Amino acid sequence: MKATCWHGVNDVRVEQVPDPKIINQGDAIIKISSTAICGSDLHLYDGYVPAMQAGDILGHEFMGEVVEVGSKVGKLKVGDRVVVPFPIACGQCFFCEQKLFSVCENSNPNAHLAEKMWGRSAAGIFGYSHLTGGYAGGQAEYARVPYADVGPLVVPPDLSDEKVLFLSDILPTGYMAAEACDIEPGHVVAVWGCGPVGQFAIQSAYLLGAERVIAIDRFPERLQMAREVSRAETINYEQLDVADALRQMTGGRGPDACIDAVGMEAHGTGLTYAYDRIKHAMRMESDRPTALREAIMACRNGGVVSVPGVYGGFSDKIPFGSVMNRSITIKTGQTHVQRYMRPLLERIVRGELDPACVITHHLDLDDAPHGYEIFKNKQEQCVKVVMHP
Ligand code: NAD
Ligand code: ZN
Ligand code: ZN
Repeated sequence: MKATCWHGVNDVRVEQVPDPKIINQGDAIIKISSTAICGSDLHLYDGYVPAMQAGDILGHEFMGEVVEVGSKVGKLKVGDRVVVPFPIACGQCFFCEQKLFSVCENSNPNAHLAEKMWGRSAAGIFGYSHLTGGYAGGQAEYARVPYADVGPLVVPPDLSDEKVLFLSDILPTGYMAAEACDIEPGHVVAVWGCGPVGQFAIQSAYLLGAERVIAIDRFPERLQMAREVSRAETINYEQLDVADALRQMTGGRGPDACIDAVGMEAHGTGLTYAYDRIKHAMRMESDRPTALREAIMACRNGGVVSVPGVYGGFSDKIPFGSVMNRSITIKTGQTHVQRYMRPLLERIVRGELDPACVITHHLDLDDAPHGYEIFKNKQEQCVKVVMHP
Protein backbone atom coordinates (compact mmCIF):
# COMPACT_ATOMS: atom_id res chain seq x y z
CA MET A 1 0.00 0.00 0.00
CA LYS A 2 0.95 3.66 -0.15
CA ALA A 3 1.80 5.52 3.05
CA THR A 4 3.19 8.86 4.17
CA CYS A 5 6.55 8.16 5.79
CA TRP A 6 8.78 10.34 7.96
CA HIS A 7 12.39 10.60 6.86
CA GLY A 8 13.71 13.54 8.85
CA VAL A 9 13.16 17.23 9.44
CA ASN A 10 10.88 18.66 6.73
CA ASP A 11 11.12 15.36 4.84
CA VAL A 12 8.03 13.21 4.37
CA ARG A 13 7.60 10.86 1.43
CA VAL A 14 4.75 8.80 0.05
CA GLU A 15 6.11 5.30 -0.37
CA GLN A 16 5.09 1.70 -1.02
CA VAL A 17 5.10 -0.23 2.27
CA PRO A 18 3.71 -3.65 3.29
CA ASP A 19 -0.04 -3.78 4.01
CA PRO A 20 -0.89 -3.90 7.73
CA LYS A 21 -2.00 -7.24 9.15
CA ILE A 22 -4.03 -8.31 12.16
CA ILE A 23 -1.49 -8.87 14.95
CA ASN A 24 -3.80 -9.28 17.95
CA GLN A 25 -7.28 -10.74 17.72
CA GLY A 26 -8.76 -7.45 19.01
CA ASP A 27 -7.42 -5.55 15.95
CA ALA A 28 -9.29 -4.30 12.91
CA ILE A 29 -7.90 -3.21 9.55
CA ILE A 30 -9.38 0.01 8.17
CA LYS A 31 -9.35 1.04 4.50
CA ILE A 32 -8.86 4.77 4.81
CA SER A 33 -11.14 7.18 2.97
CA SER A 34 -9.99 10.47 4.54
CA THR A 35 -7.05 11.48 6.70
CA ALA A 36 -5.82 14.86 7.89
CA ILE A 37 -2.56 16.58 8.81
CA CYS A 38 -2.55 17.90 12.38
CA GLY A 39 -0.52 20.57 14.16
CA SER A 40 0.83 17.68 16.20
CA ASP A 41 2.29 16.15 13.03
CA LEU A 42 4.27 19.36 12.64
CA HIS A 43 6.19 18.58 15.85
CA LEU A 44 7.42 15.41 14.12
CA TYR A 45 8.01 17.22 10.82
CA ASP A 46 9.97 19.91 12.68
CA GLY A 47 12.05 17.25 14.43
CA TYR A 48 11.00 18.05 18.02
CA VAL A 49 10.07 14.51 18.94
CA PRO A 50 13.15 12.40 19.52
CA ALA A 51 11.93 8.84 19.03
CA MET A 52 11.19 8.89 15.29
CA GLN A 53 12.78 6.47 12.85
CA ALA A 54 13.17 6.86 9.11
CA GLY A 55 10.24 5.19 7.41
CA ASP A 56 7.74 5.60 10.27
CA ILE A 57 4.20 5.99 8.92
CA LEU A 58 2.59 9.27 9.98
CA GLY A 59 -1.00 10.25 10.72
CA HIS A 60 -3.42 10.06 13.63
CA GLU A 61 -6.59 11.64 12.20
CA PHE A 62 -8.28 9.14 9.92
CA MET A 63 -11.49 7.30 9.06
CA GLY A 64 -12.66 4.66 6.64
CA GLU A 65 -14.20 1.25 6.18
CA VAL A 66 -13.53 -1.84 8.27
CA VAL A 67 -12.15 -4.49 5.91
CA GLU A 68 -10.96 -7.15 8.37
CA VAL A 69 -11.45 -7.91 12.07
CA GLY A 70 -9.67 -10.23 14.51
CA SER A 71 -11.56 -13.13 16.07
CA LYS A 72 -12.03 -11.29 19.38
CA VAL A 73 -13.62 -8.18 17.87
CA GLY A 74 -17.27 -8.25 18.87
CA LYS A 75 -18.83 -4.89 18.05
CA LEU A 76 -17.24 -3.85 14.77
CA LYS A 77 -17.88 -5.75 11.58
CA VAL A 78 -16.53 -5.71 8.06
CA GLY A 79 -18.21 -2.93 6.09
CA ASP A 80 -18.72 -0.56 9.03
CA ARG A 81 -17.72 3.06 8.34
CA VAL A 82 -15.75 4.36 11.31
CA VAL A 83 -13.82 7.32 12.67
CA VAL A 84 -10.77 6.31 14.72
CA PRO A 85 -9.72 8.28 17.84
CA PHE A 86 -6.02 9.14 17.97
CA PRO A 87 -5.19 7.78 21.44
CA ILE A 88 -5.14 3.99 21.57
CA ALA A 89 -6.92 2.77 24.70
CA CYS A 90 -7.64 -0.67 26.13
CA GLY A 91 -10.97 0.35 27.68
CA GLN A 92 -10.37 -1.71 30.82
CA CYS A 93 -7.47 -0.35 32.86
CA PHE A 94 -7.67 1.96 35.90
CA PHE A 95 -7.36 5.04 33.66
CA CYS A 96 -9.74 3.93 30.91
CA GLU A 97 -12.36 3.20 33.57
CA GLN A 98 -12.10 6.85 34.59
CA LYS A 99 -12.39 7.88 30.92
CA LEU A 100 -8.77 9.10 30.97
CA PHE A 101 -8.19 7.33 27.67
CA SER A 102 -5.08 9.24 26.60
CA VAL A 103 -3.21 7.91 29.63
CA CYS A 104 -4.29 4.26 29.20
CA GLU A 105 -1.67 2.09 30.87
CA ASN A 106 -1.92 -0.86 28.50
CA SER A 107 -1.59 0.58 25.02
CA ASN A 108 2.02 1.77 24.89
CA PRO A 109 4.41 -1.11 24.25
CA ASN A 110 7.33 1.33 24.59
CA ALA A 111 6.39 2.50 28.09
CA HIS A 112 10.07 2.38 29.10
CA LEU A 113 10.92 5.14 26.59
CA ALA A 114 8.04 7.32 27.75
CA GLU A 115 9.01 6.81 31.38
CA LYS A 116 12.52 8.06 30.67
CA MET A 117 11.18 11.23 29.14
CA TRP A 118 8.08 11.91 31.23
CA GLY A 119 8.57 9.99 34.47
CA ARG A 120 5.59 7.77 33.70
CA SER A 121 4.11 6.42 30.48
CA ALA A 122 0.91 7.41 28.67
CA ALA A 123 -1.30 5.89 25.98
CA GLY A 124 -0.15 4.72 22.58
CA ILE A 125 -0.91 7.11 19.71
CA PHE A 126 -1.10 6.34 15.98
CA GLY A 127 1.80 7.65 13.92
CA TYR A 128 3.33 9.59 16.75
CA SER A 129 6.85 8.27 17.35
CA HIS A 130 8.22 5.35 19.31
CA LEU A 131 7.63 7.26 22.56
CA THR A 132 3.92 6.57 22.10
CA GLY A 133 4.25 3.02 20.92
CA GLY A 134 5.65 3.20 17.40
CA TYR A 135 2.22 2.49 15.88
CA ALA A 136 1.90 2.96 12.13
CA GLY A 137 -0.30 5.97 11.37
CA GLY A 138 -3.26 6.62 9.13
CA GLN A 139 -1.90 8.86 6.37
CA ALA A 140 -1.97 5.71 4.30
CA GLU A 141 -4.30 3.45 2.37
CA TYR A 142 -4.83 1.09 5.31
CA ALA A 143 -4.18 1.06 9.06
CA ARG A 144 -4.24 -1.53 11.82
CA VAL A 145 -6.42 -0.38 14.72
CA PRO A 146 -5.81 -2.16 18.06
CA TYR A 147 -8.61 -2.50 20.67
CA ALA A 148 -11.06 -2.11 17.81
CA ASP A 149 -14.08 -2.55 20.09
CA VAL A 150 -13.03 0.41 22.24
CA GLY A 151 -12.00 3.28 19.96
CA PRO A 152 -13.61 3.42 16.52
CA LEU A 153 -17.02 5.07 16.27
CA VAL A 154 -19.47 3.92 13.60
CA VAL A 155 -20.82 7.00 11.80
CA PRO A 156 -24.14 7.49 9.98
CA PRO A 157 -23.96 7.04 6.19
CA ASP A 158 -25.67 10.36 5.47
CA LEU A 159 -22.87 12.41 7.09
CA SER A 160 -19.95 13.11 4.75
CA ASP A 161 -16.35 12.36 5.76
CA GLU A 162 -15.76 16.12 6.04
CA LYS A 163 -18.34 16.40 8.80
CA VAL A 164 -17.13 13.52 10.96
CA LEU A 165 -13.40 13.08 10.29
CA PHE A 166 -12.37 15.58 12.97
CA LEU A 167 -14.07 13.55 15.69
CA SER A 168 -10.75 11.65 15.55
CA ASP A 169 -8.91 14.50 17.25
CA ILE A 170 -9.21 18.24 16.74
CA LEU A 171 -12.92 18.68 17.43
CA PRO A 172 -12.76 16.84 20.79
CA THR A 173 -9.46 18.62 21.46
CA GLY A 174 -10.96 22.08 21.01
CA TYR A 175 -13.98 20.99 23.05
CA MET A 176 -11.99 19.49 25.92
CA ALA A 177 -9.84 22.63 26.03
CA ALA A 178 -12.95 24.80 26.39
CA GLU A 179 -14.61 22.42 28.85
CA ALA A 180 -11.52 22.71 31.07
CA CYS A 181 -12.19 26.45 31.35
CA ASP A 182 -15.24 25.95 33.63
CA ILE A 183 -17.10 28.58 31.65
CA GLU A 184 -19.89 30.48 33.39
CA PRO A 185 -22.31 33.05 31.97
CA GLY A 186 -20.54 36.34 31.33
CA HIS A 187 -17.11 34.77 30.97
CA VAL A 188 -14.49 36.02 28.55
CA VAL A 189 -12.19 33.36 27.07
CA ALA A 190 -8.99 34.21 25.19
CA VAL A 191 -7.56 31.70 22.70
CA TRP A 192 -3.95 31.79 21.50
CA GLY A 193 -3.63 30.20 18.05
CA CYS A 194 -6.33 30.21 15.35
CA GLY A 195 -5.29 26.95 13.75
CA PRO A 196 -7.83 24.14 13.52
CA VAL A 197 -7.57 23.39 17.25
CA GLY A 198 -7.96 27.06 18.15
CA GLN A 199 -11.00 27.39 15.83
CA PHE A 200 -12.75 24.49 17.56
CA ALA A 201 -11.77 25.78 20.99
CA ILE A 202 -13.40 29.11 20.08
CA GLN A 203 -16.57 27.44 18.78
CA SER A 204 -16.74 25.20 21.85
CA ALA A 205 -16.24 28.09 24.26
CA TYR A 206 -19.31 29.78 22.77
CA LEU A 207 -21.25 26.49 22.84
CA LEU A 208 -20.40 26.15 26.53
CA GLY A 209 -21.72 29.61 27.30
CA ALA A 210 -18.86 32.09 27.01
CA GLU A 211 -20.10 35.62 26.50
CA ARG A 212 -17.03 36.73 24.57
CA VAL A 213 -14.11 34.94 22.95
CA ILE A 214 -10.95 36.79 21.97
CA ALA A 215 -8.77 35.01 19.39
CA ILE A 216 -5.06 35.71 18.91
CA ASP A 217 -2.89 34.89 15.87
CA ARG A 218 -1.01 36.69 13.12
CA PHE A 219 -2.46 35.17 9.95
CA PRO A 220 -5.30 37.36 8.63
CA GLU A 221 -7.22 34.46 7.07
CA ARG A 222 -7.20 32.52 10.35
CA LEU A 223 -8.31 35.59 12.33
CA GLN A 224 -11.00 36.19 9.72
CA MET A 225 -12.22 32.61 10.10
CA ALA A 226 -12.47 33.13 13.87
CA ARG A 227 -14.52 36.30 13.33
CA GLU A 228 -16.76 35.02 10.58
CA VAL A 229 -17.42 31.44 11.61
CA SER A 230 -17.56 32.06 15.35
CA ARG A 231 -18.09 35.83 15.91
CA ALA A 232 -14.85 36.00 17.96
CA GLU A 233 -13.10 39.31 18.58
CA THR A 234 -9.53 39.12 17.32
CA ILE A 235 -6.04 40.41 18.11
CA ASN A 236 -3.28 40.27 15.50
CA TYR A 237 -0.20 39.94 17.69
CA GLU A 238 2.00 41.49 15.04
CA GLN A 239 -0.06 44.65 15.21
CA LEU A 240 -0.96 44.93 18.90
CA ASP A 241 0.65 44.17 22.23
CA VAL A 242 -1.43 41.19 23.36
CA ALA A 243 -1.12 41.83 27.11
CA ASP A 244 -2.17 45.48 26.73
CA ALA A 245 -5.00 44.71 24.33
CA LEU A 246 -6.42 41.99 26.59
CA ARG A 247 -6.24 44.26 29.62
CA GLN A 248 -8.14 46.94 27.75
CA MET A 249 -10.73 44.55 26.38
CA THR A 250 -11.51 43.12 29.82
CA GLY A 251 -11.75 46.28 31.92
CA GLY A 252 -8.29 45.66 33.34
CA ARG A 253 -9.13 42.31 34.96
CA GLY A 254 -7.97 39.84 32.31
CA PRO A 255 -9.84 36.98 30.60
CA ASP A 256 -11.56 34.48 32.91
CA ALA A 257 -9.86 31.68 31.03
CA CYS A 258 -7.00 31.46 28.55
CA ILE A 259 -6.44 28.64 26.06
CA ASP A 260 -3.00 27.91 24.60
CA ALA A 261 -3.82 26.27 21.26
CA VAL A 262 -0.31 26.86 19.97
CA GLY A 263 2.12 24.51 21.71
CA MET A 264 5.85 24.23 21.73
CA GLU A 265 6.80 25.85 18.44
CA ALA A 266 5.17 29.16 19.36
CA HIS A 267 6.30 31.62 16.74
CA GLY A 268 8.84 34.29 17.52
CA THR A 269 9.53 33.33 21.10
CA GLY A 270 12.43 32.89 23.44
CA LEU A 271 11.35 29.39 24.36
CA THR A 272 14.15 27.06 25.33
CA TYR A 273 13.12 23.51 24.90
CA ALA A 274 15.19 20.58 26.05
CA TYR A 275 14.82 16.82 26.11
CA ASP A 276 16.25 14.49 28.69
CA ARG A 277 18.97 13.20 26.40
CA ILE A 278 18.63 15.16 23.21
CA LYS A 279 19.09 18.80 24.07
CA HIS A 280 17.63 21.14 21.56
CA ALA A 281 17.62 24.86 22.04
CA MET A 282 15.19 26.92 20.01
CA ARG A 283 16.74 30.35 19.78
CA MET A 284 14.69 33.47 19.77
CA GLU A 285 13.62 35.50 16.78
CA SER A 286 12.38 38.18 19.15
CA ASP A 287 11.62 38.70 22.80
CA ARG A 288 7.95 37.81 22.50
CA PRO A 289 6.97 35.49 25.34
CA THR A 290 5.67 32.06 24.45
CA ALA A 291 1.93 31.77 24.01
CA LEU A 292 1.78 29.81 27.26
CA ARG A 293 3.71 32.42 29.22
CA GLU A 294 1.58 35.17 27.77
CA ALA A 295 -1.62 33.25 28.59
CA ILE A 296 -0.59 32.76 32.22
CA MET A 297 0.38 36.39 32.67
CA ALA A 298 -2.84 37.66 31.05
CA CYS A 299 -5.30 35.41 32.85
CA ARG A 300 -7.40 36.99 35.59
CA ASN A 301 -6.68 36.05 39.20
CA GLY A 302 -8.29 32.73 40.04
CA GLY A 303 -8.79 31.89 36.37
CA VAL A 304 -7.98 28.82 34.31
CA VAL A 305 -5.23 28.34 31.75
CA SER A 306 -6.16 25.42 29.51
CA VAL A 307 -3.38 23.97 27.38
CA PRO A 308 -4.33 21.75 24.43
CA GLY A 309 -1.10 22.86 22.72
CA VAL A 310 1.45 20.05 22.75
CA TYR A 311 4.70 20.27 24.72
CA GLY A 312 7.37 17.61 24.57
CA GLY A 313 10.22 17.62 27.03
CA PHE A 314 11.12 20.50 29.33
CA SER A 315 9.85 24.00 28.74
CA ASP A 316 11.68 26.82 30.46
CA LYS A 317 10.55 30.19 31.63
CA ILE A 318 7.03 29.25 32.61
CA PRO A 319 6.09 31.92 35.17
CA PHE A 320 5.09 29.56 37.93
CA GLY A 321 5.26 32.33 40.50
CA SER A 322 2.42 34.02 38.68
CA VAL A 323 0.40 30.79 38.67
CA MET A 324 0.96 30.27 42.39
CA ASN A 325 0.49 33.79 43.67
CA ARG A 326 -2.63 34.49 41.62
CA SER A 327 -4.44 31.17 42.21
CA ILE A 328 -4.41 30.12 38.59
CA THR A 329 -5.41 26.60 37.60
CA ILE A 330 -3.59 24.96 34.72
CA LYS A 331 -5.29 22.09 32.89
CA THR A 332 -3.81 20.15 30.02
CA GLY A 333 -3.53 16.74 28.40
CA GLN A 334 -3.65 14.78 25.22
CA THR A 335 -7.37 14.64 24.56
CA HIS A 336 -9.46 11.78 25.94
CA VAL A 337 -11.10 11.59 22.53
CA GLN A 338 -13.22 8.48 23.17
CA ARG A 339 -15.07 10.43 25.89
CA TYR A 340 -16.29 13.10 23.48
CA MET A 341 -16.90 11.35 20.15
CA ARG A 342 -20.52 10.34 20.66
CA PRO A 343 -21.79 13.57 22.27
CA LEU A 344 -20.02 15.65 19.62
CA LEU A 345 -21.40 13.45 16.84
CA GLU A 346 -24.85 14.23 18.24
CA ARG A 347 -24.11 17.95 18.12
CA ILE A 348 -23.01 17.55 14.46
CA VAL A 349 -26.22 15.66 13.64
CA ARG A 350 -28.28 18.42 15.32
CA GLY A 351 -26.43 21.02 13.24
CA GLU A 352 -24.85 22.77 16.24
CA LEU A 353 -21.36 22.22 14.85
CA ASP A 354 -20.11 21.97 11.28
CA PRO A 355 -16.50 20.87 11.58
CA ALA A 356 -15.93 21.03 7.81
CA CYS A 357 -15.57 24.80 8.13
CA VAL A 358 -11.83 24.57 8.80
CA ILE A 359 -10.95 22.56 5.66
CA THR A 360 -9.15 24.61 3.05
CA HIS A 361 -7.40 21.86 1.08
CA HIS A 362 -8.41 18.43 -0.23
CA LEU A 363 -5.39 16.57 -1.63
CA ASP A 364 -4.49 13.15 -2.96
CA LEU A 365 -2.43 11.10 -0.54
CA ASP A 366 0.38 11.37 -3.12
CA ASP A 367 0.50 15.11 -2.42
CA ALA A 368 1.21 14.67 1.30
CA PRO A 369 4.67 16.34 1.06
CA HIS A 370 3.02 19.43 -0.43
CA GLY A 371 0.29 19.28 2.23
CA TYR A 372 2.87 19.27 5.02
CA GLU A 373 4.72 22.17 3.46
CA ILE A 374 1.73 24.48 3.04
CA PHE A 375 0.23 23.56 6.43
CA LYS A 376 3.50 24.17 8.25
CA ASN A 377 4.27 27.43 6.47
CA LYS A 378 0.66 28.62 6.36
CA GLN A 379 0.93 29.06 2.59
CA GLU A 380 -1.99 29.14 0.12
CA GLN A 381 -4.12 30.36 3.08
CA CYS A 382 -4.01 26.79 4.34
CA VAL A 383 -5.85 26.06 7.58
CA LYS A 384 -6.53 22.31 7.34
CA VAL A 385 -5.47 19.68 4.83
CA VAL A 386 -7.55 16.54 4.27
CA MET A 387 -6.06 13.80 2.10
CA HIS A 388 -7.79 11.01 0.25
CA PRO A 389 -5.90 7.78 -0.44
P1 NAD B 1 -1.55 25.04 13.70
O1 NAD B 1 -0.08 25.06 13.51
O2 NAD B 1 -2.41 25.06 12.49
O3 NAD B 1 -2.01 26.26 14.60
C1 NAD B 1 -1.19 26.94 15.49
C2 NAD B 1 -1.52 28.42 15.38
O4 NAD B 1 -0.84 29.13 16.41
C3 NAD B 1 -1.07 29.03 14.05
O5 NAD B 1 -2.16 29.65 13.42
C4 NAD B 1 0.01 30.02 14.46
O6 NAD B 1 0.06 31.17 13.65
C5 NAD B 1 -0.42 30.35 15.89
N1 NAD B 1 0.68 30.87 16.72
C6 NAD B 1 2.00 30.54 16.68
N2 NAD B 1 2.68 31.21 17.62
C7 NAD B 1 1.77 31.98 18.27
C8 NAD B 1 1.88 32.88 19.34
N3 NAD B 1 3.05 33.10 19.93
N4 NAD B 1 0.75 33.51 19.77
C9 NAD B 1 -0.46 33.25 19.18
N5 NAD B 1 -0.62 32.39 18.15
C10 NAD B 1 0.49 31.77 17.70
O7 NAD B 1 -1.85 23.75 14.60
P2 NAD B 1 -3.22 23.09 15.16
O8 NAD B 1 -3.50 21.89 14.35
O9 NAD B 1 -4.29 24.07 15.35
O10 NAD B 1 -2.68 22.58 16.57
C11 NAD B 1 -2.41 23.51 17.60
C12 NAD B 1 -1.74 22.82 18.78
O11 NAD B 1 -2.62 21.85 19.34
C13 NAD B 1 -0.46 22.05 18.42
O12 NAD B 1 0.50 22.21 19.44
C14 NAD B 1 -0.92 20.63 18.39
O13 NAD B 1 0.12 19.71 18.64
C15 NAD B 1 -1.92 20.64 19.51
N6 NAD B 1 -2.86 19.51 19.54
C16 NAD B 1 -3.08 18.95 20.75
C17 NAD B 1 -3.95 17.90 20.88
C18 NAD B 1 -4.23 17.32 22.22
O14 NAD B 1 -4.69 16.19 22.32
N7 NAD B 1 -3.99 18.06 23.30
C19 NAD B 1 -4.60 17.40 19.74
C20 NAD B 1 -4.38 18.02 18.51
C21 NAD B 1 -3.49 19.08 18.42
ZN1 ZN C 1 -3.75 15.71 16.10
ZN1 ZN D 1 -6.59 1.38 29.29
